Amino acid sequence: MSTIAFIGLGNMGAPMANNLLSAGCNVRVFDLVKSSVDELAKAGAIACEEVSSVVEGADVVITMLPAGEHVRSVYLGDHHGGVGLVNLVKSGTLLIDSSTIDPESARTVAKYAKEKQLDFVDAPVSGGVAGAKAGTLTFIVGGGAKAFDRAEQVLKHMGKNIFHAGRAGDGQMAKICNNLMLGILMSGTCEALNLGIDNGLDPNVLSKIMLQSSGRNWALELYNPCPGVMENAPASHDYQPGFMSKLMLKDLGLGLDSAAKSQSSVPMGALARNLYAFHNAGGNEELDFSSLFRFYQSTKKEVK
Ligand code: NAD
Repeated sequence: MSTIAFIGLGNMGAPMANNLLSAGCNVRVFDLVKSSVDELAKAGAIACEEVSSVVEGADVVITMLPAGEHVRSVYLGDHHGGVGLVNLVKSGTLLIDSSTIDPESARTVAKYAKEKQLDFVDAPVSGGVAGAKAGTLTFIVGGGAKAFDRAEQVLKHMGKNIFHAGRAGDGQMAKICNNLMLGILMSGTCEALNLGIDNGLDPNVLSKIMLQSSGRNWALELYNPCPGVMENAPASHDYQPGFMSKLMLKDLGLGLDSAAKSQSSVPMGALARNLYAFHNAGGNEELDFSSLFRFYQSTKKEVK
């Protein structure tokens, strides 16, 4: 059984690493937050205190980090003395980054990995914390065919659908398109539910109606943003994440950056990004992204 080094044990990384343990893999773990490492160690992982020790003897490295800057520093090194893991792993190691980051950072890491004869894929995910826990994530992979085939053998322990989007960075680009749409759909779902409530409708009944009508979408079906409608959704648990609002703002920003480069029109994405920027500025950035519903409620006018 191969040894897997897992770096980044947050809302997504911890359950993903747990599924690798359940599949019988040897898993070495590292996160800047020690309590997250300790939790995984209780489940059978080998706890490590830094990047250099977690990759010792690893055949595969998986990272699940917040943004491009974290991925670049963990893989390539930084000005604080961090030695990038591409300089530490043994030759032939497979590197998988499942964070959602800008395609350029993914392509830069891929270039340096290639120079060291290492296989690298960007493999961002869709499916949220529930999908990470259930092992049903969708992986959207960018990289060469050989690296994809190798990655598929590992990713199958954490996901149900594994797509090869294209060359290095293309996995990120496809994920960015998906989350641009998700940000727009969540905003629209909050808006419609709030409109109904303001006009006397029961959000449970309205949700049921829209689920069987043309407004149906992922946010409404699996992640209802109105408290009390869906027992397992973050909305019914004080918007504990889940997927933090600051990460949605980051992803919408990645969409806008890409659009600026390709000169694409993204008016809806720009509006959704601004809604999240307003919402986060109100102190909500660490809440789940469905908490945008509160933004609509806070702008409520009394209907005479
Ligand atoms: P998170 O903030 O909960 O977890 C990130 C973890 O990385 C934290 O535990 C943090 O301590 C750790 N970390 C940061 N820098 C580090 C470093 N240099 N070395 C080691 N550990 C470091 O975020 P998350 O929700 O788990 O998301 C991770 C990535 O997955 C993000 O790119 C996000 O956009 C993406 N994503 C999240 C979801 C979701 O529903 N939460 C869904 C799909 C994709």
